[in-house]
Amino acid sequence: MTLPEQSRNDAHASLEGRVYNFNGGPAALPLPVLERVSSEILNWRGTGMSIMENSHRDKKVAAMALETEEDIKSLLGLGDDWKVLFLQGGASLQFAMIPLNFAPDGAPADYVNTGLWSDKAYKEALICGAGAKFASSSEADNFTYIPTSHVFSPNARYIYLTSNNTVRGTEWSSFPASPPAPLIADMSSDFLSRPLDLKDFVLVHAGAQKNVGPAGLTIVLVKPAFAATGKKGLPHLLDYRTYIESDSMYNTPPVFAIYVAGLVVKWIRDEIGGLARMATINRAKAARLYGAIDGSGGFYRGTARPDSRSLMNVTFRLPSEELEKAFLEEGKKNGLCGLNGHRSVGGARASIYNAVTDQAVDSLIGFMADFQRKNG
Ligand SMILES: *Cc1c(COP(=O)(O)O)cnc(C)c1O
Repeated sequence: MTLPEQSRNDAHASLEGRVYNFNGGPAALPLPVLERVSSEILNWRGTGMSIMENSHRDKKVAAMALETEEDIKSLLGLGDDWKVLFLQGGASLQFAMIPLNFAPDGAPADYVNTGLWSDKAYKEALICGAGAKFASSSEADNFTYIPTSHVFSPNARYIYLTSNNTVRGTEWSSFPASPPAPLIADMSSDFLSRPLDLKDFVLVHAGAQKNVGPAGLTIVLVKPAFAATGKKGLPHLLDYRTYIESDSMYNTPPVFAIYVAGLVVKWIRDEIGGLARMATINRAKAARLYGAIDGSGGFYRGTARPDSRSLMNVTFRLPSEELEKAFLEEGKKNGLCGLNGHRSVGGARASIYNAVTDQAVDSLIGFMADFQRKNG
């Protein structure tokens, strides 16, 4: 078994046995962040205890959360008309909170259906009593592309889309221009992977475990002016205003997850050099991997239409399910983990989020060529 470069090169004995992680989520975290967490685990910021043992009412903890909010805003270039919130319940709770707040009592809301996650969001909106409808869908084509023509309702309260389809490996490269209603997006699997122009958006949500941190934290960007238009009288934890007014400290927030996400954000800013640089790195990684797929003479087949290909989740098939099984098993033996497709579609998927290194991708490309030589 060949150990990944990362393990072989490093002086840290603790890296022995670490693998290249292509998990869809929870997913790879940057090594410098894990090392920092490890170095601070017994005594965080001189408190004499770990971050997990601190009260969320402690000044240092509150300051850490506010710092993380400010860092996210400055990375994205957001002004004071935006608020960053730290919630729980995953992206999936947002599927309900959004319609409960903004399309109550049958109010119209438009959804773009690009696969599993947008379909779940749409169905949840119906359960919540929203007048939800699909403005477009790529279902007839197995969700292999991002639709570009949409039939929006005249009075929609919002237009909802999923910026990156984690399962099918498709991603919006640009969002609808001059939309007739404000945009809301689930950006769980490409949040902070590229710069964003959010001028047409009022809310963005992301489960942290794909690209930003540990599971248990959901990051929401929301315009307080929009949140103020939400339905009144909802239970506190379902009302965005509760989090806005309390700086996400109405009840106990997921402190450890916020802390790790905060370190990831600082890593993007200080070690990567910001979102434009992050996007350049991500584009280059994806281009090399898609290049390997397209150059394989049909042995590996990308499942997404080239114009809709995701830079985060590279989905592909092999000539047979037997070969796919062997590919995944041998990959694992070679220290390449998490290459299985989502359980709803099968096949192979390499999730190459921010924290997945060039060496990881190159190691995968080398393995793919090797596997083809032996089995092609
Ligand atoms: C993973 C994922 C979800 C589900 O997230 P949870 O935090 O598990 O609820 C929703 N949307 C997208 C795009 C995802 O990738």
